Amino acid sequence: MKFETKVIHAGVEPDPTTGAIMTPIYQTSTYVQDAPGRHKGYEYGRTQNPTRTALEESLATLEGGNHGLAFASGMAAMDAVLKLLSPGDEIISTTDVYGGSYRLIVKQYEQYGIKAHFIDLRDRQLLRDTINERTRIVWFETPTNPMLKILDIKQICQAVKNSNAIVCVDNTFASPHLQRPLELGADLVMHSATKYIAGHSDVIMGALICRDPELEERLRFIQNASGAVPGPMDCFLALRGIKTLAVRMDRACKNAHRIADLLNKHKKIAEVFYPGLESSEGHTLATKQMEQYGAMVSFTLKEDNKRAANKILKKTRLFSLAESLGGVESLIGHPASMTHASIPKAKRAKAGISDSLIRLSIGIEHVDDLCADLLNALK
Ligand SMILES: *Cc1c(COP(=O)(O)O)cnc(C)c1O
Repeated sequence: MKFETKVIHAGVEPDPTTGAIMTPIYQTSTYVQDAPGRHKGYEYGRTQNPTRTALEESLATLEGGNHGLAFASGMAAMDAVLKLLSPGDEIISTTDVYGGSYRLIVKQYEQYGIKAHFIDLRDRQLLRDTINERTRIVWFETPTNPMLKILDIKQICQAVKNSNAIVCVDNTFASPHLQRPLELGADLVMHSATKYIAGHSDVIMGALICRDPELEERLRFIQNASGAVPGPMDCFLALRGIKTLAVRMDRACKNAHRIADLLNKHKKIAEVFYPGLESSEGHTLATKQMEQYGAMVSFTLKEDNKRAANKILKKTRLFSLAESLGGVESLIGHPASMTHASIPKAKRAKAGISDSLIRLSIGIEHVDDLCADLLNALK
């Protein structure tokens, strides 16, 4: 079945009692039992909810996995993965990992005795040298945030293969419509479903998808034990958002490519970061690994300072100044003072996040209007 059909049908069956074509919002905390321990598979809302189950099955199918687990946020999903670790264990991640992921690893888990290495995962030898017998997780995003570098999922999985570590890919920026890491050898996929999956800037949610039943069992235990589950209403909204995931992504990617081309020719711009540009370092790999190049575009200004960036951030009308991404509406952001403010300046600079760097999340408005808005702000 093609992806465009899966988004409509996966995990969703007509409601058994009424035939309702859309999964109902089972807004309930508990379920009545026939006799103690005799029930229809549902005991308590933290453990199971039919709306959540439909969403989890849909997510598993879209990512080419066997098991999906929904969480109250992307960070709650990542937190569940980090809870697989014990003191002394090590994690390897990237220098430009999502700011909140960096914060969770360093500020929360280092105090529990977890050691983290943030390296350039494009460097295969460096990865091989960093892996040791205590490495348990290799965690990365591709495209990366906000520099939109492309990491070779297949190659990293091969390098990690003979170790004790699992590979977890944060697939938030690509969405399963563009890239399915499990099919490339990854053990686990994480999503901030807040972004493209829900897609309408009205839900905070996270997800994990895997194939291995043992890994699923451990994560399912943590999901229930820690209890960071999404409510049924949010699960419904995500299920509804998923139906248009393919058409939304198609449009947003097309818009993004046009905008990247436009910015690339602009005299005030120093560099455009977009894997769809033939001149971009990750272009060949992105062409191989992804079905389209995504809808995130970053750029730096020739006048490389916050003041110059601020002028643009203030002047756009259609692009709203906001954190987050992946909604139907276009957003503009300043990583150094917003999404990546929690990363120390020296580390930010090392990752290429300069003071003039601006990040765009391209929505599904008409591209002509978006281009006009940017050109006006760049005047
Ligand atoms: C937003 C985001 C997260 C965090 O997800 P929340 O839903 O905000 O908790 C993690 N990774 C990436 C790449 C993100 O963009």
